[in-house]
Amino acid sequence: MRVISCILTEHDLRLVLLSAFVIVSGGWLAFGLFRRAEEKHGAQRHGWTFLAAVAAGASVWCTHFIAMLAFDVRAPITFEPLLTIGSLLIAIVGCGVGFDVALRDRKPSSPAAGGAILGLSVAAMHYTGMMGYRIDGLVEWSAGYIAASIAMAMVLSAVALHQAVRRSWAFSHYAAIALFVLAVVSLHFTGMAALSVTPFITDTALANPEILVTMSIAVACVGLIIASTGFAAYIIDTKASEDMAERLHHMAYNDALTGLPNRAGFAVHLGHALDLAKAEGSRLAVVSIDLDRFKEINDLRGLEAGDAALRLIGQRLSELLREGEFVARAGGDEFATVKRFTERSDLLDFVARLEGVLFTPINIGDFQTVTGASLGVAVYPEDGDTQERLINNSELALYRAIDDVTRATCFYEAQMDEASRARHTLGQDLRHAIELNQLELYYQVQTSVSTGEICGYEALLRWRHPVHGMVSPAEFIPIAEETGSIIPIGEWVLRTACREAASWSVPHKVAVNLSPVQFVNADLARLVHEVLLQTDLSPSRLELEITESTIIADKARTLHILRQIKSLGVTIAIDDFGTGYSSLSTLREFPFDKIKLDRSFMNEVEHNQQAKAVVRAVLSLGKTLEIKVLAEGVETAHQLAILHTEGCDEAQGYFLGKPQPIAQILMALANVGNSNVAQTVPTPISASRRKRQRHAG
Ligand code: C2E
Ligand code: MG
Ligand code: MG
Repeated sequence: MRVISCILTEHDLRLVLLSAFVIVSGGWLAFGLFRRAEEKHGAQRHGWTFLAAVAAGASVWCTHFIAMLAFDVRAPITFEPLLTIGSLLIAIVGCGVGFDVALRDRKPSSPAAGGAILGLSVAAMHYTGMMGYRIDGLVEWSAGYIAASIAMAMVLSAVALHQAVRRSWAFSHYAAIALFVLAVVSLHFTGMAALSVTPFITDTALANPEILVTMSIAVACVGLIIASTGFAAYIIDTKASEDMAERLHHMAYNDALTGLPNRAGFAVHLGHALDLAKAEGSRLAVVSIDLDRFKEINDLRGLEAGDAALRLIGQRLSELLREGEFVARAGGDEFATVKRFTERSDLLDFVARLEGVLFTPINIGDFQTVTGASLGVAVYPEDGDTQERLINNSELALYRAIDDVTRATCFYEAQMDEASRARHTLGQDLRHAIELNQLELYYQVQTSVSTGEICGYEALLRWRHPVHGMVSPAEFIPIAEETGSIIPIGEWVLRTACREAASWSVPHKVAVNLSPVQFVNADLARLVHEVLLQTDLSPSRLELEITESTIIADKARTLHILRQIKSLGVTIAIDDFGTGYSSLSTLREFPFDKIKLDRSFMNEVEHNQQAKAVVRAVLSLGKTLEIKVLAEGVETAHQLAILHTEGCDEAQGYFLGKPQPIAQILMALANVGNSNVAQTVPTPISASRRKRQRHAG
């Protein structure tokens, strides 16, 4: 009897290569499916785990089967069907359990534990298969080799799954496949080394190599076909995911109504186009478009007509595009376009084409209209070299185009548009000025011209801007009026002035300026009443200053509100008198308590006879109507002396006192309280006397 160790013989090299191919492709497929399982959850994960298990189990089993056929034991062999099929099931189920454990719990040890189960099931498959591999001879097993083979399969598979799940380096996935293949191969060869066979008969003809090869190929094909179903599922799923991603991408970057790219799509395109323009040294224009009469269509014809108009305009805009041009719907009735060009004439041609389309009549149902549009253009590189800057500047130019009735298109002009940008940001900042405690009131004294006694103080608003420092009310009040923040600001001024005045030791009057916009609020009289009650200021100590423009805006309404306020006991002064249009009639219609003669007259009163004549006329008008007159902007002793001669009642100006913060006013008032003498500021007499003294000195 001869003992044959089961060593690979030369003529079966083809089968070894075939088995290597099966296990490598099977491993690659199984780990691909396993990875997909890892990405999914719930039922989907179970489905992918099952497919991975089938691919792994079937390929391991096929490898084993082909490798068995490759071993020439020089003795007749048969396969016991139950154990052979059973070993396939063990491989699939075992791999399934291993994969499942590896993904369960997300514990650091789970992948290795799952891998160990995987290795164990491969070993179980191998030895169950070996039990069904019937050899006509004396079969002996080496326990040491068996133990070593099982240990190697488990350890290598554990490391393989750990790599597959933890992915500690770039090639983890491929390392995992290689380790798994190594686990299967080492199990097989060590397992086969454990076996020695002494054939009962030796007949080389029993093992027909061609039949064995054919059988092996058949087994490999069946195994790969089974595994390929998983591959097919993988491909279908990948394609479906890609389709879905593409659909979502399309939805995210395109406008559903017009089919044009949306704002996000525009940003992406502009980014690329700008890079291209920078690289090739060409120029690029961003044109922002706003339809002029779109709202009319929506309001008069309904939303459906509006939608139809947008679709039609969108379609026409996209049809006019040539190479290097792009259009998107930026939202609402706004469109945005990009044009790459080298010659300015090309840009002008593009703008002309845009205008042509936008001013072409559109038919919606039985009605025809022209929406018209305003266009704002900003050009790279001169108007900006970033996306944000170009978009921003084209919008600034657009705002100018919207305001300009004579032109449809405006090109960005730094000076003009920067000024409007600065105004815009100032307006934004102003909204938070109250809550950020940036506002405060200065007070300017008002005195009697004849006695020099203090009659009151005018509250003048100051804004301490964190960047620009003290901003003049002449600059920010118009912005506050435009943006509407004058309403809360005006209320703050009224409340603060009344509260501070109520705390003064001497009960002087306080004058507060009101903006025309505050009269839009019908509750102004109620607000004044409420503030007086809350601050406990006597109504007779409050004076409200309004300008003629307030009355002109809506005469009946303003006069009605003024009467309500006056009935509270509050006095009303007309500010900047002489600069408006309807001075005389206004004075007749409402019983003002004070006329504040505009300071422009003071500038000229010393040298200009006409100005002096106006001052004289206003003073006599005041006398006739029994209204006190206060002259604003008194800057010199001479001006004060003239006012004295002409019989003016009160005066206010830098000569008498500049606007000062409340702390200084309080200090001055406290001194008056202590000396118990009514505080005075220079009268014409005392001032000229002082001057004489200075000269004498
Ligand atoms: P106004 O009500 O005619 O206030 C007088 C302005 O003339 C103040 O400017 C004051 O500082 C300035 N002034 C006073 N004396 C002289 C002088 O001798 N020479 C010159 N050149 N100017 C003098 P201010 O404080 O810059 O205020 C400007 C305008 O802003 C005010 O004119 C008023 O219309 C508006 N304003 C100020 N505070 C408020 C407020 O709280 N609410 C509203 N709505 N407007 C305010
Ligand atoms: Mg005033
Ligand atoms: Mg004034």
